[in-house]
Amino acid sequence: MTTTTGHAIVVGAGIGGLAAAVGLRRVGWDVTVLERAAELGEVGAGMSQAPNAMRALAELGVADQARAVGVPTGSTGNLRRPHGRYLQRARPGDPLALLGFHRADLHRVLLDAVPADRVRTGVEVTDVRQDDAGVTVVAGGTEHRGDLVVGADGIRSAVRGRLWPDARPPRYLGRTAWLGVVDVAGLPGDLTGSVTLGQGRMFLIHPVARHRAYWALLTTELAPGVRYDDERGAALAHVGGWHEPVPDLVRATPAGAVLRTDIHELPPLTTYVRGRAVLLGDAAHAMSPDRGQGAGHSLEDAVVLAHALATAGTVEAALARYDAERRPRDQATARGARRDGAMTASRAGQAVTTAMIRLMPAALWRKGVEPDGNPTWRWQPPRLPVVPRTS
Ligand SMILES: Cc1cc2nc3c(=O)[nH]c(=O)nc-3n(C[C@H](O)[C@H](O)[C@H](O)COP(=O)(O)OP(=O)(O)OC[C@H]3O[C@@H](n4cnc5c(N)ncnc54)[C@H](O)[C@@H]3O)c2cc1C
Repeated sequence: MTTTTGHAIVVGAGIGGLAAAVGLRRVGWDVTVLERAAELGEVGAGMSQAPNAMRALAELGVADQARAVGVPTGSTGNLRRPHGRYLQRARPGDPLALLGFHRADLHRVLLDAVPADRVRTGVEVTDVRQDDAGVTVVAGGTEHRGDLVVGADGIRSAVRGRLWPDARPPRYLGRTAWLGVVDVAGLPGDLTGSVTLGQGRMFLIHPVARHRAYWALLTTELAPGVRYDDERGAALAHVGGWHEPVPDLVRATPAGAVLRTDIHELPPLTTYVRGRAVLLGDAAHAMSPDRGQGAGHSLEDAVVLAHALATAGTVEAALARYDAERRPRDQATARGARRDGAMTASRAGQAVTTAMIRLMPAALWRKGVEPDGNPTWRWQPPRLPVVPRTS
């Protein structure tokens, strides 16, 4: 094994950037993370992570910590119609493949694995340059020198903007999401996790902690950028007559805590690498949320990048290998997520989807939602060698 070591500058301290920092440090790299936000922490509500992401977290050395703040969710097993009928229903004791998380909790697990002095907040990266000796990252009037820059700065990445001027901008996928996290103690209805499909609307529930649940309502019915004075009331108007606990979850969410986001994806890039700059996470492959894999794939990216740097001999060879391994998988998942989203969003697509799900034998359905039942979830990480850092 021929390892490379050096100093990496990671732009962005979201889940992807922190995972990259953890992975690179494990294989002996020194890391500086530059984050635009003045304070660290994930805004947003909840998310789920599948077995592939949990394996990546294990390789990063934080799976136990993540499991301690996650809750098994039955969302993949329970599919319902707005009046409450189950198209498919998990049985008690069925293995639950996904863990539900409050985003802030998963983010904190990764943040705790990076020494505080390696993360600088309140610094916005505005320029990235390269020369034969390395990279220069400009943030807040200061120039940071490194051997590698990892652009983990999200869907509107400044690193991508500077070094991939030919990349197409993110595109709107025709759907908007309202999101919330709510105290569910005392609420009636099935809170084990579920997906409910209505015309052009989808309501997702994940438990995320004891007595707390995350909900997301996706709809095709709004134009992007529309804002309401009362987002909770607007969300409720879309699901007011739906089965319990759907309306109660929305009603019980504090009005100011209901979030809105328009769903975008990044058109596929032809490369994740430019010289000694590499993209990771949403900066590389922001995708529709329909497979719950965006952050999960950023965790996979981090492990594969660290492994390539530890084993490929040179930074150039490592980045080429990372690009060859990650781009096809990330982009295939993104295509699948876009297709799933389009199917559940259109009237005809949803009619076909619900008919297929209803007609599927229950045993076959359950097989598909078991931990190894889904091809995307079967991903296995490379083993990270633990390399002592030289600086
Ligand atoms: C409705 C919805 C539901 C989702 N559900 C799931 C799910 O269940 N499971 C899942 O795995 N994924 C899910 N995702 C996807 C997931 O949210 C993203 O893929 C993930 O958060 C991307 O992480 P990231 O670190 O790459 O980017 P981000 O989280 O966007 O982090 C980027 C960071 O870079 C910083 N930054 C930006 N520009 C600069 C700059 N110029 N200088 C310095 N710092 C900068 C930002 O402040 C931010 O902290 C969902 C997405 C949506 C929209």
